[in-house]
Parts: sequence; C-alpha cells; structure tokens
Amino acid sequence: MMKKKYDYLVVGSGLYGATFAYFARQNGKRCLVIDKRNHLGGNIYCENREGINIHKYGAHIFHTDNSLVWHFVNRFVTFNRYTNSPIANYKGRQYNLPFNMNTFCQMWGVLTPDEAKAKIEEQRAEALAIMREAGVDRPRNLEEQALSLIGKDIYEILIKGYTEKQWGRKCSDLPAFIIKRLPVRFVHDNNYFNDQFQGIPIGGYNRLINGLLEGIETKTDADFFVNRSYWESLAEKIVFTGKIDEYYDYRFGKLDYRSLTFEHKTLNTPNYQGNAVMNYTDRDVPYTRTIEHKHFEMFGSSVYNCPKTVVTWEYPVEWTEGKEPYYTVNDERNTNLYSQYQQLAQQEKDVLFGGRLAEYKYYDMAPIVEKVMKLWEVI
Ligand code: FAD
Ligand code: UDP
Repeated sequence: MMKKKYDYLVVGSGLYGATFAYFARQNGKRCLVIDKRNHLGGNIYCENREGINIHKYGAHIFHTDNSLVWHFVNRFVTFNRYTNSPIANYKGRQYNLPFNMNTFCQMWGVLTPDEAKAKIEEQRAEALAIMREAGVDRPRNLEEQALSLIGKDIYEILIKGYTEKQWGRKCSDLPAFIIKRLPVRFVHDNNYFNDQFQGIPIGGYNRLINGLLEGIETKTDADFFVNRSYWESLAEKIVFTGKIDEYYDYRFGKLDYRSLTFEHKTLNTPNYQGNAVMNYTDRDVPYTRTIEHKHFEMFGSSVYNCPKTVVTWEYPVEWTEGKEPYYTVNDERNTNLYSQYQQLAQQEKDVLFGGRLAEYKYYDMAPIVEKVMKLWEVI
C-alpha cells in the first residue's frame, strides 16, 4: 500500500490542533493543519488595531498551576504579569470580583473578615430555611446553589442577571456546577484565578500559535466538510477538533451551544474604563461584559502613550447554524446526546477527537495544552 502524503491531517488550527501538530512534528511526523476560518489560531486569534492586540473571539487570560505547561508556552512567547481582576458594574455601582473582602465592603460596608462571614452566614441561613420549608435538602439548580453558598444580596446583584443573560435560561433552570467556578475569599484579593501562573503573551496569542506551527504546512479557508473525501485521502490519521455531531452528520441529533456577538469599537480616548474586563451584572443591560484590550498588555503610563483604545461589547446569543459555537451546554439532553457520539468516536482507529468542540466540553487553554502534552508523553 502506498503511504499517504501526511501522517496527520489536523482539522482546526486552534490551541489543540496547533499543540498537537507541534509535538507530531517534533516526533518526525508529517502534518497538514487546515482551518475553515481565514486565519490560524481558533478562538485565541488576535487582531492588531491601533497597536493594540484585540482578542477577537473574547478575552483570553492564560492561567495554570502546572509549571511544565507554563514553561512550555513561554518557550514560544514571553507571558507578562497580567492578573485578571474584573470589575462588576450593577446599575452604575462598581464591585470587585471575585467575591472577596473588597466586594463585601462595597456591598455591606463590613470591614473585617468576621463581619463579612457573619453577614454571609445570616443570608445563607435565610436561604437554607426557605429551602427546608420547601422540602429541599440539597441545591437542585444554580439559583439554590448560589443562595445557599453566598446569600441573597450577592446572588441578586452579581450573579442572577449576568448568568441569565450569559446562558439565556433562568438560574432556576441551570445546573449548579456553573457557579462553583467562582471563588469566595475573606481576604482583600481581586485576583480572579487561584493558579500560580497567569499572564498574557507579550505581542498577542498569534505569537504562540505561529511558534507552535512553525515549519508545519497549514491551509486556511479550508472546511473539512466541503471536500471531506479529498482531505481524508491525504493522511493516515485525522485529528479532528471541530464539532463532533457534524463529523457524524448529526445522526443522533444536533448538540446545543451558546454563541456570542462581539462589537469592537475604536475610541478616541486613551483609557475608557480603566480595567481590561468590566462585567455588567444587571439583566437589563443587553451585553455581559466590555473588554478594553490595551489593559492586557499596557500598564501604568504606557496606557497613555497610545492615544486611542479598542473596546469590545460582548452579547450572548442563542446558537443557530452559521454562528460560532462558543460554549457547550452541558445539560442532561446534551450530555446524553454527546455520549452517543462519544461511543462512536471511541471505536475509531484512525481519528482522534480533541478540543472543546470535538469533546463537547468547556476547556480553558492550559488544560488543552496539558492534555496534548500527556498524549505525547511529554508529561
Ligand atoms: P478552537 O479555538 O475553537 O479551535 C477549533 C478550530 O477548528 C477553529 O479554528 C475552527 O475554525 C476549526 N474548525 C472547526 N470545524 C472545522 C472544519 N469543519 N474544517 C476546518 N476547520 C474547522 N480559556 C482560558 O484559559 N482563559 C480564558 O480567559 C478564556 N476565555 C475564553 C473566552 C471565551 C469567550 C471563550 C469562548 C473561550 C475562552 N477560553 C479561555 C477557552 C479557550 O478559548 C479554549 O480553551 C481554546 O480556544 C480551545 O481550543 P480548541 O483548539 O479546542 O478550539
Ligand atoms: N458569573 C456571574 N457573575 C459574574 C461573572 C460570572 O454570575 O460577574 C457566573 C456566570 O454564571 C458565568 C460563570 O459565573 O457563566 C463563570 O464565569 P467565568 O467568568 O468564570 O467564565 P467565562 O464566562 O469567562 O467562561
């Protein structure tokens, strides 16, 4: 049998595909990476405007506890010391996130951890009593989870409106696990993440992607499904990072996603909101966050050296065909549907499914890199 031209066809040039191709090349494999978009990098792609790197598909902050992952990505581009500390804006009042002593002071005027704990305990007790009266002994949904963790004030001001906008569903209809991602701290610490390492690549994420893909053949504007048999004929094995339901021609039905619309504007001011990320937690404001990109890479006086700024308004929308599938919806229906596709995927000998769309799972960037490193037994 004639050997095919490539060992691997990698469908998708996002972080999963690019990291996979890098290690394949290191191991002497011939790869072709294709992407249906007109650029490489998937959702971490940056576009430069006014000398500012714009996170075109939403704000991306790299964070990890794994020093091997951190040192690996820093081989391709140096990461800066950016620390994510979003501000919540509710009806014109600002609160620090994640929930910490600064937030509690802004919310209730409490000054010590004991005062904050007492206030939260009082509100939790009220919520638990209401649940007990209704015969509920364990939180059944996000609303009950939030109320029993942090109480009514924080839930109503900082969680309810944001979450219902983000997911297009009532908090009482959403699974509790979504909210477990938000830390609660009794110290004055606005760092959104608990990880040891955190930052933004100096010069933008394209440097990371270009470094990973250096010396590897790539093709953009190339949709696997438009010419499937041609692409399949080129390589011994396929690494597929697109939608798993589409790969199987939706034979069990379509998986749901949540999408986003980004409105990018260049403004004639050096500093619009004084922070990279501002969350709008009020239900009546149609967007969830505004991102001022320069604050990811410009600090102190350098903010003012660049006379303009670029701000992105992020609107959550229901996903329909043609829109970008940003977030998976891991409710019961979709979890069951995905497991049917997963069973087919596990039987494939020459196709590997990886990344957030093929595994139908929310992944941060570092776990994607870690997973591929483990696959190639680098860690
Ligand atoms: P993707 O980046 O989506 O790459 C998949 C690629 O496959 C795309 O380029 C797509 O065009 C291509 N493709 C799909 N179908 C086909 C086809 N048929 N033919 C050819 N190509 C195809 N992570 C963090 O760690 N920190 C953050 O702050 C953070 N913020 C985020 C904010 C938002 C709004 C979102 C949506 C995600 C965020 N993430 C963050 C997660 C991060 O984006 C993912 O971990 C990462 O992008 C996953 O990489 P991937 O390669 O799996 O997917
Ligand atoms: N969340 C919230 N208020 C906020 C920020 C987040 O209630 O100001 C909730 C919301 O349900 C969201 C979840 O926490 O879906 C996770 O938010 P995070 O910012 O960690 O994730 P991202 O949306 O960036 O993926």
